[in-house]
Amino acid sequence: MKQKMRKRRSAAQEGPYEDISHLKSLISNRKYRLDCGHLVTLNHNLGNNIAVINGKELKIICTLCLY
Ligand SMILES: [Zn+2]
Repeated sequence: MKQKMRKRRSAAQEGPYEDISHLKSLISNRKYRLDCGHLVTLNHNLGNNIAVINGKELKIICTLCLY
């Protein structure tokens, strides 16, 4: 038995998901100054890492000081 995929178009809630490579391309090869003052250079081997915390407002956490 084959289940039919329902086509739902409630864009905001279940819009089409983009590939994560798109997100990467948006932020790659850029330099950012974090709220804590640390600098992040993306696409750099020795660069600082960041974590994205989801929520109504996105938070970028610096993995050096966890601020
Ligand atoms: Zn920091």
